Amino acid sequence: MDLLLSGSDILHRSPTLVDSQAGHHERRAFRARFVIGYALSYALDTALLALFALADTIPKWIAISYGAAGVALCSVFYCLLITGFSERFRDHQLTIYQTFASGTVMLVFLALAPNVGFLFLSIIFIVFGFGSLRMSWREAGISWGVVALASGAILYRTHDISWLPQSSPIEYILVWMWFVLTLARLIALGLFGSSLRIRLRQRNQQLAESIRSLEARTVDLDVAKEQAEAANRAKSRFLANVSHELRTPMNGVLGMTELLLDTGLSDKQRRFAGMAHSSAQALLCIINDVLDFSRIEAGKLQLEMNNFDLREVLEDLTALLAVQARAKQLSLTCRVGENVPAMVHGDATRIRQILLNLVGNAVKFTERGEVSLEVTREASGKPSSCMVRFAVRDTGIGIAPDAQFRIFNAFEQADGSNTRRHDGTGLGLAISRQLAEMMGGGISVVSSPGSGSTFTLLLPLRLA
Ligand code: ADP
Repeated sequence: MDLLLSGSDILHRSPTLVDSQAGHHERRAFRARFVIGYALSYALDTALLALFALADTIPKWIAISYGAAGVALCSVFYCLLITGFSERFRDHQLTIYQTFASGTVMLVFLALAPNVGFLFLSIIFIVFGFGSLRMSWREAGISWGVVALASGAILYRTHDISWLPQSSPIEYILVWMWFVLTLARLIALGLFGSSLRIRLRQRNQQLAESIRSLEARTVDLDVAKEQAEAANRAKSRFLANVSHELRTPMNGVLGMTELLLDTGLSDKQRRFAGMAHSSAQALLCIINDVLDFSRIEAGKLQLEMNNFDLREVLEDLTALLAVQARAKQLSLTCRVGENVPAMVHGDATRIRQILLNLVGNAVKFTERGEVSLEVTREASGKPSSCMVRFAVRDTGIGIAPDAQFRIFNAFEQADGSNTRRHDGTGLGLAISRQLAEMMGGGISVVSSPGSGSTFTLLLPLRLA
Protein backbone atom coordinates (compact mmCIF):
# COMPACT_ATOMS: atom_id res chain seq x y z
CA MET A 1 0.00 0.00 0.00
CA ASP A 2 2.64 2.49 0.97
CA LEU A 3 4.95 1.57 -1.83
CA LEU A 4 2.13 2.40 -4.21
CA LEU A 5 2.26 5.88 -2.83
CA SER A 6 6.03 6.09 -2.64
CA GLY A 7 6.38 4.89 -6.23
CA SER A 8 3.74 7.25 -7.55
CA ASP A 9 5.42 10.01 -5.66
CA ILE A 10 8.61 9.40 -7.57
CA LEU A 11 6.61 9.67 -10.79
CA HIS A 12 4.67 12.67 -9.62
CA ARG A 13 7.79 14.49 -8.65
CA SER A 14 8.74 14.63 -12.31
CA PRO A 15 7.58 18.10 -13.45
CA THR A 16 6.84 16.85 -16.96
CA LEU A 17 4.25 14.48 -15.65
CA VAL A 18 2.50 17.13 -13.65
CA ASP A 19 2.72 19.77 -16.34
CA SER A 20 2.09 17.64 -19.39
CA GLN A 21 -1.32 16.82 -20.78
CA ALA A 22 -0.84 13.32 -19.43
CA GLY A 23 -0.61 14.87 -15.93
CA HIS A 24 -4.37 14.80 -15.46
CA HIS A 25 -4.63 11.13 -16.42
CA GLU A 26 -1.63 10.33 -14.25
CA ARG A 27 -3.31 11.94 -11.25
CA ARG A 28 -6.52 10.02 -11.88
CA ALA A 29 -4.59 6.79 -12.28
CA PHE A 30 -2.73 7.61 -9.07
CA ARG A 31 -5.99 8.10 -7.15
CA ALA A 32 -7.37 4.83 -8.52
CA ARG A 33 -4.18 3.00 -7.51
CA PHE A 34 -4.37 4.66 -4.12
CA VAL A 35 -7.87 3.32 -3.40
CA ILE A 36 -7.19 -0.12 -4.85
CA GLY A 37 -3.94 -0.42 -2.90
CA TYR A 38 -5.57 0.68 0.35
CA ALA A 39 -8.64 -1.49 -0.11
CA LEU A 40 -6.65 -4.60 -1.07
CA SER A 41 -4.20 -4.20 1.76
CA TYR A 42 -6.80 -3.65 4.48
CA ALA A 43 -9.23 -6.21 3.01
CA LEU A 44 -6.57 -8.93 3.08
CA ASP A 45 -5.49 -8.10 6.63
CA THR A 46 -9.10 -7.84 7.81
CA ALA A 47 -9.98 -11.18 6.15
CA LEU A 48 -7.03 -12.82 7.86
CA LEU A 49 -7.99 -11.28 11.20
CA ALA A 50 -11.61 -12.42 10.64
CA LEU A 51 -10.36 -15.98 10.16
CA PHE A 52 -8.29 -15.70 13.36
CA ALA A 53 -11.45 -14.38 15.07
CA LEU A 54 -13.44 -17.38 13.77
CA ALA A 55 -10.74 -19.65 15.15
CA ASP A 56 -11.20 -17.82 18.48
CA THR A 57 -7.59 -16.59 18.51
CA ILE A 58 -8.73 -12.95 18.82
CA PRO A 59 -12.10 -11.31 19.65
CA LYS A 60 -14.34 -10.58 16.64
CA TRP A 61 -14.51 -6.84 17.32
CA ILE A 62 -10.76 -6.59 16.63
CA ALA A 63 -11.25 -7.74 13.04
CA ILE A 64 -14.31 -5.49 12.59
CA SER A 65 -12.66 -2.40 14.04
CA TYR A 66 -9.48 -3.04 12.06
CA GLY A 67 -11.54 -3.08 8.80
CA ALA A 68 -13.42 0.05 9.94
CA ALA A 69 -10.11 1.81 10.69
CA GLY A 70 -8.93 0.94 7.16
CA VAL A 71 -12.11 2.36 5.56
CA ALA A 72 -11.89 5.54 7.70
CA LEU A 73 -8.22 6.17 6.92
CA CYS A 74 -8.69 5.52 3.21
CA SER A 75 -11.70 7.90 3.07
CA VAL A 76 -9.90 10.71 4.89
CA PHE A 77 -6.80 10.53 2.68
CA TYR A 78 -8.86 10.12 -0.50
CA CYS A 79 -10.93 13.22 0.38
CA LEU A 80 -7.71 15.18 0.96
CA LEU A 81 -6.50 14.05 -2.48
CA ILE A 82 -9.61 14.78 -4.55
CA THR A 83 -10.35 18.11 -2.90
CA GLY A 84 -6.81 19.20 -3.68
CA PHE A 85 -6.22 19.86 0.02
CA SER A 86 -3.20 17.56 -0.16
CA GLU A 87 -1.46 20.23 -2.28
CA ARG A 88 -1.08 22.32 0.88
CA PHE A 89 1.08 19.67 2.50
CA ARG A 90 4.78 19.36 1.84
CA ASP A 91 4.26 15.76 0.70
CA HIS A 92 1.49 16.14 -1.93
CA GLN A 93 0.90 12.40 -2.14
CA LEU A 94 0.49 12.19 1.65
CA THR A 95 2.72 9.12 1.84
CA ILE A 96 4.47 10.28 4.98
CA TYR A 97 1.27 11.18 6.85
CA GLN A 98 -0.35 7.97 5.68
CA THR A 99 2.60 5.95 6.94
CA PHE A 100 2.33 7.55 10.37
CA ALA A 101 -1.45 7.09 10.51
CA SER A 102 -1.31 3.45 9.38
CA GLY A 103 1.66 2.71 11.64
CA THR A 104 -0.17 4.20 14.65
CA VAL A 105 -3.27 2.12 13.90
CA MET A 106 -1.08 -1.00 13.72
CA LEU A 107 0.52 -0.16 17.06
CA VAL A 108 -2.92 0.27 18.69
CA PHE A 109 -4.02 -3.09 17.31
CA LEU A 110 -0.77 -4.67 18.37
CA ALA A 111 -1.60 -3.62 21.92
CA LEU A 112 -5.23 -4.71 21.58
CA ALA A 113 -4.59 -8.13 20.04
CA PRO A 114 -1.36 -9.49 21.49
CA ASN A 115 -2.29 -12.98 20.26
CA VAL A 116 -1.44 -11.99 16.71
CA GLY A 117 1.29 -9.55 17.63
CA PHE A 118 3.61 -10.93 14.95
CA LEU A 119 1.07 -10.04 12.28
CA PHE A 120 0.78 -6.42 13.31
CA LEU A 121 4.48 -6.07 13.87
CA SER A 122 5.25 -7.40 10.39
CA ILE A 123 2.71 -5.04 8.83
CA ILE A 124 4.20 -2.14 10.81
CA PHE A 125 7.58 -3.00 9.34
CA ILE A 126 6.24 -3.16 5.78
CA VAL A 127 4.37 0.13 6.22
CA PHE A 128 7.30 2.02 7.72
CA GLY A 129 9.82 0.29 5.50
CA PHE A 130 8.21 1.54 2.31
CA GLY A 131 6.92 4.77 3.82
CA SER A 132 10.41 5.79 4.88
CA LEU A 133 11.59 5.58 1.24
CA ARG A 134 9.70 8.83 0.82
CA MET A 135 10.89 10.43 4.05
CA SER A 136 13.94 12.49 4.76
CA TRP A 137 16.65 10.82 6.87
CA ARG A 138 15.45 12.76 9.92
CA GLU A 139 11.80 11.75 9.46
CA ALA A 140 12.74 8.13 8.84
CA GLY A 141 14.97 8.14 11.95
CA ILE A 142 12.22 9.65 14.11
CA SER A 143 9.55 7.29 12.79
CA TRP A 144 11.69 4.19 13.29
CA GLY A 145 12.58 5.40 16.78
CA VAL A 146 8.88 5.89 17.60
CA VAL A 147 8.01 2.44 16.21
CA ALA A 148 10.81 0.79 18.15
CA LEU A 149 9.86 2.58 21.38
CA ALA A 150 6.12 1.94 21.02
CA SER A 151 6.58 -1.72 20.02
CA GLY A 152 9.08 -2.19 22.86
CA ALA A 153 6.63 -0.67 25.38
CA ILE A 154 3.82 -2.87 24.12
CA LEU A 155 5.95 -6.01 24.15
CA TYR A 156 7.20 -5.18 27.65
CA ARG A 157 3.71 -4.61 29.05
CA THR A 158 2.00 -7.48 27.23
CA HIS A 159 3.64 -10.68 28.37
CA ASP A 160 1.30 -12.99 26.51
CA ILE A 161 2.33 -11.84 23.03
CA SER A 162 2.06 -14.86 20.83
CA TRP A 163 4.45 -14.77 17.93
CA LEU A 164 3.09 -17.76 16.10
CA PRO A 165 -0.31 -18.87 17.39
CA GLN A 166 -0.33 -22.44 16.08
CA SER A 167 -2.15 -24.31 18.82
CA SER A 168 -4.85 -25.52 16.40
CA PRO A 169 -4.53 -26.78 12.79
CA ILE A 170 -6.65 -23.81 11.62
CA GLU A 171 -4.22 -21.39 13.22
CA TYR A 172 -1.37 -23.27 11.66
CA ILE A 173 -2.98 -22.83 8.20
CA LEU A 174 -3.71 -19.16 8.93
CA VAL A 175 -0.12 -18.48 9.87
CA TRP A 176 1.04 -20.01 6.60
CA MET A 177 -1.58 -18.01 4.73
CA TRP A 178 -0.29 -14.89 6.41
CA PHE A 179 3.26 -15.84 5.52
CA VAL A 180 2.38 -16.37 1.83
CA LEU A 181 0.31 -13.18 1.74
CA THR A 182 3.09 -11.10 3.26
CA LEU A 183 5.58 -12.55 0.83
CA ALA A 184 3.21 -11.89 -2.11
CA ARG A 185 2.67 -8.35 -0.90
CA LEU A 186 6.38 -7.73 -0.65
CA ILE A 187 7.00 -9.15 -4.14
CA ALA A 188 4.10 -7.13 -5.62
CA LEU A 189 5.34 -3.95 -4.01
CA GLY A 190 8.89 -4.66 -5.17
CA LEU A 191 7.75 -5.30 -8.75
CA PHE A 192 5.56 -2.27 -8.73
CA GLY A 193 8.40 -0.14 -7.41
CA SER A 194 10.79 -1.28 -10.10
CA SER A 195 8.20 -0.83 -12.88
CA LEU A 196 7.75 2.73 -11.66
CA ARG A 197 11.48 3.27 -11.64
CA ILE A 198 11.76 1.93 -15.22
CA ARG A 199 8.92 4.18 -16.37
CA LEU A 200 10.49 7.09 -14.58
CA ARG A 201 13.81 6.46 -16.32
CA GLN A 202 12.06 6.24 -19.70
CA ARG A 203 10.21 9.46 -19.00
CA ASN A 204 13.42 11.18 -18.03
CA GLN A 205 15.07 10.01 -21.24
CA GLN A 206 12.11 11.29 -23.27
CA LEU A 207 12.24 14.54 -21.36
CA ALA A 208 15.98 14.91 -21.98
CA GLU A 209 15.41 14.25 -25.71
CA SER A 210 12.62 16.81 -25.94
CA ILE A 211 14.76 19.35 -24.08
CA ARG A 212 17.61 18.70 -26.53
CA SER A 213 15.36 19.08 -29.58
CA LEU A 214 13.74 22.17 -28.05
CA GLU A 215 17.14 23.72 -27.47
CA ALA A 216 18.12 22.96 -31.06
CA ARG A 217 14.88 24.53 -32.30
CA THR A 218 15.40 27.58 -30.10
CA VAL A 219 18.83 28.09 -31.62
CA ASP A 220 17.36 27.73 -35.15
CA LEU A 221 14.58 30.16 -34.28
CA ASP A 222 17.05 32.66 -32.84
CA VAL A 223 19.08 32.51 -36.04
CA ALA A 224 15.92 32.87 -38.17
CA LYS A 225 14.76 35.80 -35.99
CA GLU A 226 18.15 37.47 -36.33
CA GLN A 227 18.02 37.03 -40.12
CA ALA A 228 14.43 38.30 -40.33
CA GLU A 229 15.30 41.36 -38.23
CA ALA A 230 18.39 42.04 -40.33
CA ALA A 231 16.30 41.68 -43.50
CA ASN A 232 13.66 43.99 -42.05
CA ARG A 233 16.28 46.58 -41.12
CA ALA A 234 17.78 46.33 -44.60
CA LYS A 235 14.30 46.73 -46.13
CA SER A 236 13.56 49.78 -44.02
CA ARG A 237 16.93 51.32 -44.89
CA PHE A 238 16.33 50.57 -48.56
CA LEU A 239 12.82 52.09 -48.43
CA ALA A 240 14.11 55.16 -46.61
CA ASN A 241 16.92 55.67 -49.11
CA VAL A 242 14.76 55.07 -52.17
CA SER A 243 11.96 57.34 -51.04
CA HIS A 244 14.44 60.01 -50.05
CA GLU A 245 16.06 59.80 -53.49
CA LEU A 246 12.63 59.87 -55.17
CA ARG A 247 11.65 63.05 -53.38
CA THR A 248 14.26 65.24 -55.05
CA PRO A 249 13.21 64.55 -58.67
CA MET A 250 9.54 64.63 -57.60
CA ASN A 251 10.01 68.14 -56.25
CA GLY A 252 11.60 68.98 -59.60
CA VAL A 253 8.56 67.64 -61.46
CA LEU A 254 6.21 69.58 -59.15
CA GLY A 255 8.17 72.81 -59.47
CA MET A 256 8.42 72.54 -63.26
CA THR A 257 4.73 71.72 -63.75
CA GLU A 258 3.84 74.69 -61.52
CA LEU A 259 6.05 76.93 -63.70
CA LEU A 260 4.56 75.37 -66.80
CA LEU A 261 1.03 76.14 -65.53
CA ASP A 262 2.04 79.82 -65.28
CA THR A 263 2.95 80.01 -68.96
CA GLY A 264 0.56 80.65 -71.80
CA LEU A 265 -1.03 77.28 -72.46
CA SER A 266 -4.00 76.20 -74.46
CA ASP A 267 -6.94 74.78 -72.44
CA LYS A 268 -6.02 71.25 -73.40
CA GLN A 269 -2.35 71.77 -72.47
CA ARG A 270 -3.40 73.37 -69.15
CA ARG A 271 -5.63 70.39 -68.34
CA PHE A 272 -2.79 67.95 -69.06
CA ALA A 273 -0.24 69.98 -67.08
CA GLY A 274 -2.76 70.28 -64.20
CA MET A 275 -3.24 66.51 -64.15
CA ALA A 276 0.52 65.96 -64.19
CA HIS A 277 0.84 68.40 -61.27
CA SER A 278 -1.83 66.78 -59.09
CA SER A 279 -0.49 63.30 -59.90
CA ALA A 280 2.98 64.45 -58.87
CA GLN A 281 1.51 65.84 -55.64
CA ALA A 282 -0.25 62.54 -54.89
CA LEU A 283 2.95 60.65 -55.62
CA LEU A 284 4.92 62.93 -53.32
CA CYS A 285 2.41 62.24 -50.51
CA ILE A 286 2.90 58.51 -50.98
CA ILE A 287 6.66 58.88 -51.04
CA ASN A 288 6.54 60.95 -47.85
CA ASP A 289 4.39 58.30 -46.14
CA VAL A 290 6.76 55.52 -47.16
CA LEU A 291 9.73 57.58 -46.03
CA ASP A 292 8.14 58.29 -42.62
CA PHE A 293 7.07 54.72 -42.16
CA SER A 294 10.47 53.28 -42.99
CA ARG A 295 12.19 55.83 -40.74
CA ILE A 296 9.93 54.87 -37.83
CA GLU A 297 10.53 51.16 -38.54
CA ALA A 298 14.28 51.71 -38.63
CA GLY A 299 14.04 53.74 -35.40
CA LYS A 300 15.47 56.76 -37.16
CA LEU A 301 12.61 59.18 -36.77
CA GLN A 302 13.36 61.90 -34.24
CA LEU A 303 10.76 64.20 -32.76
CA GLU A 304 11.53 67.90 -32.90
CA MET A 305 10.19 69.50 -29.75
CA ASN A 306 9.45 73.23 -29.75
CA ASN A 307 7.04 75.68 -28.20
CA PHE A 308 4.11 76.35 -30.53
CA ASP A 309 0.61 77.75 -30.64
CA LEU A 310 -1.80 74.83 -30.78
CA ARG A 311 -4.72 76.96 -32.05
CA GLU A 312 -2.60 78.22 -34.94
CA VAL A 313 -1.84 74.64 -36.02
CA LEU A 314 -5.54 73.77 -35.79
CA GLU A 315 -6.60 76.83 -37.81
CA ASP A 316 -4.03 76.05 -40.50
CA LEU A 317 -5.14 72.51 -40.75
CA THR A 318 -8.84 73.32 -40.95
CA ALA A 319 -8.20 75.94 -43.62
CA LEU A 320 -6.22 73.42 -45.66
CA LEU A 321 -8.90 70.73 -45.51
CA ALA A 322 -11.82 73.12 -45.85
CA VAL A 323 -11.15 73.23 -49.61
CA GLN A 324 -11.69 69.48 -49.98
CA ALA A 325 -14.67 69.50 -47.61
CA ARG A 326 -16.31 72.33 -49.53
CA ALA A 327 -15.77 70.49 -52.81
CA LYS A 328 -17.80 67.60 -51.32
CA GLN A 329 -20.34 69.98 -49.75
CA LEU A 330 -19.44 68.81 -46.26
CA SER A 331 -19.42 71.03 -43.23
CA LEU A 332 -16.04 71.04 -41.49
CA THR A 333 -15.90 72.49 -37.99
CA CYS A 334 -13.19 72.80 -35.38
CA ARG A 335 -14.05 73.49 -31.75
CA VAL A 336 -11.38 74.10 -29.16
CA GLY A 337 -12.23 74.01 -25.45
CA GLU A 338 -11.53 77.14 -23.45
CA ASN A 339 -9.23 75.41 -21.03
CA VAL A 340 -7.02 74.03 -23.83
CA PRO A 341 -3.69 75.86 -23.41
CA ALA A 342 -2.61 78.16 -26.21
CA MET A 343 1.13 77.58 -26.08
CA VAL A 344 2.40 74.05 -25.66
CA HIS A 345 5.68 72.23 -26.06
CA GLY A 346 5.82 69.39 -28.60
CA ASP A 347 6.48 68.42 -32.20
CA ALA A 348 4.04 70.67 -34.07
CA THR A 349 4.85 69.16 -37.49
CA ARG A 350 4.10 65.62 -36.36
CA ILE A 351 0.93 66.62 -34.46
CA ARG A 352 -0.22 68.44 -37.59
CA GLN A 353 0.61 65.34 -39.66
CA ILE A 354 -1.48 63.05 -37.43
CA LEU A 355 -4.45 65.43 -37.41
CA LEU A 356 -4.15 66.02 -41.15
CA ASN A 357 -4.38 62.27 -41.65
CA LEU A 358 -7.36 61.81 -39.30
CA VAL A 359 -9.36 64.80 -40.57
CA GLY A 360 -8.27 64.09 -44.18
CA ASN A 361 -9.57 60.52 -43.85
CA ALA A 362 -12.81 61.78 -42.31
CA VAL A 363 -13.37 64.06 -45.32
CA LYS A 364 -12.28 61.35 -47.76
CA PHE A 365 -14.65 58.70 -46.36
CA THR A 366 -17.68 60.97 -45.89
CA GLU A 367 -20.09 61.67 -48.75
CA ARG A 368 -22.64 63.81 -46.91
CA GLY A 369 -23.07 65.34 -43.51
CA GLU A 370 -20.28 66.80 -41.48
CA VAL A 371 -16.80 66.38 -40.14
CA SER A 372 -15.85 67.91 -36.83
CA LEU A 373 -12.66 68.22 -34.83
CA GLU A 374 -13.16 68.79 -31.13
CA VAL A 375 -10.22 69.59 -28.89
CA THR A 376 -10.62 69.32 -25.13
CA ARG A 377 -8.33 69.23 -22.15
CA GLU A 378 -8.43 66.14 -19.95
CA ALA A 379 -7.81 66.26 -16.22
CA SER A 380 -4.14 65.65 -15.57
CA GLY A 381 -2.24 65.26 -12.32
CA LYS A 382 0.78 67.41 -13.21
CA PRO A 383 0.54 71.21 -13.25
CA SER A 384 3.28 71.53 -15.90
CA SER A 385 1.57 69.30 -18.49
CA CYS A 386 -1.86 68.42 -19.74
CA MET A 387 -3.60 65.66 -21.63
CA VAL A 388 -5.28 66.94 -24.77
CA ARG A 389 -8.02 64.98 -26.52
CA PHE A 390 -8.57 65.50 -30.27
CA ALA A 391 -11.82 63.86 -31.37
CA VAL A 392 -12.39 63.66 -35.14
CA ARG A 393 -16.04 62.83 -35.86
CA ASP A 394 -17.57 62.14 -39.26
CA THR A 395 -20.87 60.95 -40.67
CA GLY A 396 -19.22 58.83 -43.33
CA ILE A 397 -19.17 55.20 -44.36
CA GLY A 398 -17.93 53.93 -40.99
CA ILE A 399 -15.67 50.93 -40.40
CA ALA A 400 -16.72 47.32 -39.86
CA PRO A 401 -15.82 46.03 -36.35
CA ASP A 402 -13.35 43.44 -37.66
CA ALA A 403 -11.51 46.12 -39.66
CA GLN A 404 -11.20 48.55 -36.74
CA PHE A 405 -8.06 46.82 -35.43
CA ARG A 406 -6.60 46.06 -38.84
CA ILE A 407 -6.59 49.60 -40.18
CA PHE A 408 -3.84 50.63 -37.74
CA ASN A 409 -1.49 48.13 -39.38
CA ALA A 410 0.69 49.24 -42.26
CA PHE A 411 -0.80 48.82 -45.74
CA GLU A 412 -4.17 47.76 -44.28
CA GLN A 413 -7.41 49.25 -45.50
CA ALA A 414 -10.94 48.48 -44.36
CA ASP A 415 -11.81 47.76 -47.98
CA GLY A 416 -8.78 45.97 -49.37
CA SER A 417 -10.47 44.94 -52.63
CA ASN A 418 -9.31 46.06 -56.06
CA THR A 419 -12.71 47.65 -56.65
CA ARG A 420 -12.49 50.05 -53.68
CA ARG A 421 -13.57 53.60 -54.38
CA HIS A 422 -11.03 55.50 -52.31
CA ASP A 423 -7.36 55.59 -53.06
CA GLY A 424 -4.58 55.61 -50.49
CA THR A 425 -1.67 53.49 -49.30
CA GLY A 426 -3.00 52.30 -45.95
CA LEU A 427 0.03 53.81 -44.25
CA GLY A 428 -1.50 56.97 -42.76
CA LEU A 429 -3.03 55.44 -39.61
CA ALA A 430 -0.02 53.18 -39.00
CA ILE A 431 2.25 56.22 -39.07
CA SER A 432 -0.17 58.31 -37.00
CA ARG A 433 -0.48 55.69 -34.26
CA GLN A 434 3.28 55.19 -34.08
CA LEU A 435 3.89 58.92 -33.94
CA ALA A 436 1.24 59.32 -31.22
CA GLU A 437 2.86 56.52 -29.22
CA MET A 438 6.29 58.09 -29.65
CA MET A 439 4.82 61.22 -28.06
CA GLY A 440 3.43 59.18 -25.16
CA GLY A 441 -0.16 59.22 -26.43
CA GLY A 442 -2.40 56.98 -28.49
CA ILE A 443 -5.17 56.75 -31.08
CA SER A 444 -8.42 54.82 -30.84
CA VAL A 445 -11.51 54.51 -32.99
CA VAL A 446 -15.21 54.02 -32.39
CA SER A 447 -17.26 53.41 -35.48
CA SER A 448 -20.40 51.83 -36.82
CA PRO A 449 -20.69 51.08 -40.52
CA GLY A 450 -23.08 53.42 -42.31
CA SER A 451 -23.28 56.04 -39.57
CA GLY A 452 -19.74 57.34 -39.19
CA SER A 453 -16.58 57.11 -37.13
CA THR A 454 -14.85 58.92 -34.30
CA PHE A 455 -11.07 58.78 -34.14
CA THR A 456 -9.63 59.98 -30.85
CA LEU A 457 -6.06 61.15 -30.45
CA LEU A 458 -4.89 61.55 -26.85
CA LEU A 459 -1.65 63.45 -26.40
CA PRO A 460 0.19 64.53 -23.29
CA LEU A 461 1.56 68.02 -23.93
CA ARG A 462 3.87 70.10 -21.76
CA LEU A 463 2.72 73.64 -21.14
CA ALA A 464 5.07 76.15 -22.76
P1 ADP B 1 -5.36 55.33 -46.44
O1 ADP B 1 -6.34 56.36 -46.07
O2 ADP B 1 -4.19 55.86 -47.20
O3 ADP B 1 -5.97 54.11 -47.07
P2 ADP B 1 -5.01 55.07 -43.60
O4 ADP B 1 -4.04 54.26 -42.84
O5 ADP B 1 -5.10 56.52 -43.30
O6 ADP B 1 -4.69 54.80 -45.11
O7 ADP B 1 -6.43 54.42 -43.41
C1 ADP B 1 -6.57 53.01 -43.48
C2 ADP B 1 -7.99 52.63 -43.78
O8 ADP B 1 -8.81 52.93 -42.67
C3 ADP B 1 -8.60 53.37 -44.90
O9 ADP B 1 -8.27 52.79 -46.15
C4 ADP B 1 -10.07 53.22 -44.62
O10 ADP B 1 -10.52 51.94 -45.06
C5 ADP B 1 -10.13 53.23 -43.09
N1 ADP B 1 -10.48 54.54 -42.57
C6 ADP B 1 -9.66 55.46 -42.01
N2 ADP B 1 -10.35 56.54 -41.59
C7 ADP B 1 -11.64 56.32 -41.89
C8 ADP B 1 -12.86 57.04 -41.71
N3 ADP B 1 -12.87 58.23 -41.11
N4 ADP B 1 -14.01 56.48 -42.13
C9 ADP B 1 -14.00 55.27 -42.69
N5 ADP B 1 -12.90 54.50 -42.91
C10 ADP B 1 -11.73 55.03 -42.50
